[in-house]
Amino acid sequence: MGADYYAYAVIGCEVPVNKLYKEYQKPHADHAVPDGAKFCPTCGKPASITARYPIFNEDNDSIDNFHIYWGTDNKYAVIGTGVTMSSRGLGFMHFDEIPAINLRLQLRDTLFPFGLWDEEKYGLYAVLYCSY
Ligand SMILES: [Zn+2]
Repeated sequence: MGADYYAYAVIGCEVPVNKLYKEYQKPHADHAVPDGAKFCPTCGKPASITARYPIFNEDNDSIDNFHIYWGTDNKYAVIGTGVTMSSRGLGFMHFDEIPAINLRLQLRDTLFPFGLWDEEKYGLYAVLYCSY
């Protein structure tokens, strides 16, 4: 084990990580709770809890054709295309296909429906990630 370090150079859009998930309410447990009750009469816990699901593909950390580059702080991620250098080996491990010059428009069209597109956040980023 140990720590592995990754450095990404990404052309893309920075997004807050919490916008990559949708929240919803679900029952707290298997106890039946009367409609409208805020707390469970059996165990006293809140009747519903907030859960979340990802709006991206968790299998390969992507939205459509664009990769999600996670930062170590887990507050912001950059969605786009880029190259990776890792402490696990020399050279590039990962090299996205760089789309044509309309990358910005493709990324905008992909992210806009999710409310993730921010023109001010489009650019070139250096993203550092530590896996431990
Ligand atoms: Zn309960």
